[in-house]
Amino acid sequence: MSRFLSERFSNIEPYTPGEQPKVSNLIKLNTNESPFPPSPKVIEALNNEELSKLNLYSDPDTKEVIDAIAKTFGVSSNQILMGNGSDEILAFAFQAFCDKVNEPCFADITYGFYPVFCELYGLEPEIIPLKDDLSIGIKDYIGKNKPIFIANPNAPTGLALSLTDIEKILESNKDSVVLIDEAYVDFGAESAVSLVDKYDNLIVSRTFSKSRNLAGARIGFAISTPELIADMCKMKFSFNPYNLNRLSIIAGKESVLDTEYFNRCISEIISNREYTVNELTKRGFTIPDSKANFIFAKHNTLSGEEYFNELRKRNIVVRYFSKERIKDYVRITIGSIEQMKALIEATDEILKG
Ligand SMILES: *Cc1c(COP(=O)(O)O)cnc(C)c1O
Repeated sequence: MSRFLSERFSNIEPYTPGEQPKVSNLIKLNTNESPFPPSPKVIEALNNEELSKLNLYSDPDTKEVIDAIAKTFGVSSNQILMGNGSDEILAFAFQAFCDKVNEPCFADITYGFYPVFCELYGLEPEIIPLKDDLSIGIKDYIGKNKPIFIANPNAPTGLALSLTDIEKILESNKDSVVLIDEAYVDFGAESAVSLVDKYDNLIVSRTFSKSRNLAGARIGFAISTPELIADMCKMKFSFNPYNLNRLSIIAGKESVLDTEYFNRCISEIISNREYTVNELTKRGFTIPDSKANFIFAKHNTLSGEEYFNELRKRNIVVRYFSKERIKDYVRITIGSIEQMKALIEATDEILKG
């Protein structure tokens, strides 16, 4: 730390992203990326003509990609805001809707970035413990009267809430913003996008990083009411008006329009997830019912840390969290079938000891 850093940040603990190793012979199952390349339509559209326009700023209104999303999701363009990844959407939401009288609340085990935004913006969140089975207790969120942040499906558990339960939360917190972080919803959970016209306190955040194979392009978005979108838009234009670059606007548009490729990738991930859950369960693992592109696995004898370390020795990287309640688990991203077979093979070797 330099002697110039503002006092307010002297204790900040930044988010720790999963490792992005430089060596190429690794099976990388640690950051929930897709094992598949972006849609061929995306690759085709990012041509020399587009590259040669990089001397010009991107469209601050990101109109092309917003219109494509609006069409696909059946909402109006003024109900969408693009973010540089959905992390930026979350940043705008914490900044715009939380303060000393509206302190946010979220689960003890959830996306690790929520508490970091709270530190960054000087917020004091209420932390609501998950139930013993690691599911979200709906009753704990009834009538909270504060901004609520819920990842659905939750990370790193993979467990999803039903739309009925989400509606109960919205219904009982009409005077507070409820943000549903749907980073993983495409892998089998129910989306709350259908509720944005019914509840004026709902924000749904989405990302192209997981289900649209574009983590490196940094594209996220929010769907909400025109009013909440306009509020977050003020944050964007007070921070970085050109938050999406020219190439990402094109990539996002082409990707969202290629429904067929999207569906194919999703089905394959879901099928690989079922394969992996089956095989690991046979070998003594317990796994909550995942609706995401990762699973959260705990073995009946092998510790989480040991399994993580042993896999790493065999060039397979997964994610381990040392946090007390979940330290027996590892989070495994669902990759290609070849990658998952290699994981099972390595697991057999490790269990043989
Ligand atoms: C990955 C993830 C995000 C953010 O993804 P971006 O790459 O910033 O779009 C947001 N929420 C959850 C729960 C995630 O796992």
